[in-house]
Amino acid sequence: MTKRAVIVGAGFGGLHAARVLANREIDVLLIDRNNYHTFTPLLYQVATCGLEASEIAHPVRPVFRGAGNISFLLAEVTSIDTAGQVITVRMSDGDDREREEQYDYLILAAGSVTNFFGNEQVKANSFELKSLDDSLALRNHILRLFERAVWTQDSDARQALTTVVVVGAGATGLETAGALYELYAKVFQREFAGLTPRIVLVEATDKVLAPYPEELRSAAREQLESLGVEVRLGAPVVEAASNYVVLKDGSKIGTHTLIWAAGVKASPLADMLGVKLERGGRVRIKPTTEVEGLERVYVVGDMAYLEDAHGQPYPMMIPVAKQQGVLAAENILRDLKGWQPHEFRYIDRGIMATIGRSRAVAYIFNRIKLRGYLAWIAWLTLHLIALLGFHNRLAVFLHWVWNYFTFDRSVRVILGDQPEKAPTMQVEA
Ligand SMILES: Cc1cc2nc3c(=O)[nH]c(=O)nc-3n(C[C@H](O)[C@H](O)[C@H](O)COP(=O)(O)OP(=O)(O)OC[C@H]3O[C@@H](n4cnc5c(N)ncnc54)[C@H](O)[C@@H]3O)c2cc1C
Repeated sequence: MTKRAVIVGAGFGGLHAARVLANREIDVLLIDRNNYHTFTPLLYQVATCGLEASEIAHPVRPVFRGAGNISFLLAEVTSIDTAGQVITVRMSDGDDREREEQYDYLILAAGSVTNFFGNEQVKANSFELKSLDDSLALRNHILRLFERAVWTQDSDARQALTTVVVVGAGATGLETAGALYELYAKVFQREFAGLTPRIVLVEATDKVLAPYPEELRSAAREQLESLGVEVRLGAPVVEAASNYVVLKDGSKIGTHTLIWAAGVKASPLADMLGVKLERGGRVRIKPTTEVEGLERVYVVGDMAYLEDAHGQPYPMMIPVAKQQGVLAAENILRDLKGWQPHEFRYIDRGIMATIGRSRAVAYIFNRIKLRGYLAWIAWLTLHLIALLGFHNRLAVFLHWVWNYFTFDRSVRVILGDQPEKAPTMQVEA
């Protein structure tokens, strides 16, 4: 009888696993709570009015149109029974209907969630940047704040409306801070007379872009500061409210926009496996991507914990997720043939981050250091190639060209139904 694989998550790990299994001698059920795949590296450009949401998301069903053995289910996984080889799913649209899906092989690729390190006060007052919904909520929020600032007489209250605090100086924090500054200083300032933008990037440690070599770290910081972003290192957030943030050095920043880009942890689905979890709630896997102690259960991407030859866990990044997804699927095909599984060999092509127009740093193959315009061109090219779907690539390319030559951001419609995440705004008129 034909065996059945269930893949949870149509992100980078899950989608690549499914592609390997397409049109092979196995039935595959691919499950995701969204009907689309999200290209996370450009989420911040949706939030900062540079791109449309649909340009960085690709519906899942068309990807597998030509693969008769793959079906897709829009659903949320609610429980996993590894002994019975069954998972329970619920429809993703708020409907309470549940059903069980049997599997012979399970690949879990449900990614990660924002880590607030248990600080509920920060969580209640922060914007996240993990999903398209998060990006749209943030975009609406910042567009609304500028319109509110026009109604506000008190200068401190007005400044708080046009101040953003971004927490976490990793690639996401840097890219978001840079893009926000450009939006505020190059676009909004031409249209909202008398408003002064202020973007503060706050980091608990003493480094920006921790995994980069020192030379590129200081280049990134210089480029960010030359743009106009204030960088506050060694300054963790100790208190947050809807209209201010307090840092450890005692400084209080008036703001209605706190963006939390300071950490992630594995999807809570990891807890359902009943195995001991590693740091960040990640599931320890064997080099074959199978979970230690569980047969035919594979975990890949951000959820997985696997150490490299130096004892360091592989980073929560797209290339790791893609390569582990491919390996898990290949190992399932090998298992069907009774062959021994292969082990993970990470092909690391390097890291890069953009800081704004013509500003970026890149560490290619962990050998070649690029900064400034050249690194920025490399970043643009790589992200265009990596986007899923020709239509999206073309749309993003055209938007980038338009934004570059006009110094404008064209996606600036406030959508009425998007909820404001921040609690009641305290704005003095
Ligand atoms: C803003 C941002 C920028 C980033 N930039 C970069 C970058 O430039 N380069 C880089 O290498 N990495 C980047 N990353 C990290 C990268 O996105 C992750 O490492 C990668 O997406 C991990 O792939 P994954 O398959 O494990 O999870 P994901 O790609 O996150 O996919 C998980 C999927 O599982 C689904 N899912 C989750 N829970 C459930 C459930 N209970 N039921 C059903 N479906 C579920 C989700 O909807 C999602 O589609 C960035 C991340 C973010 C948030």
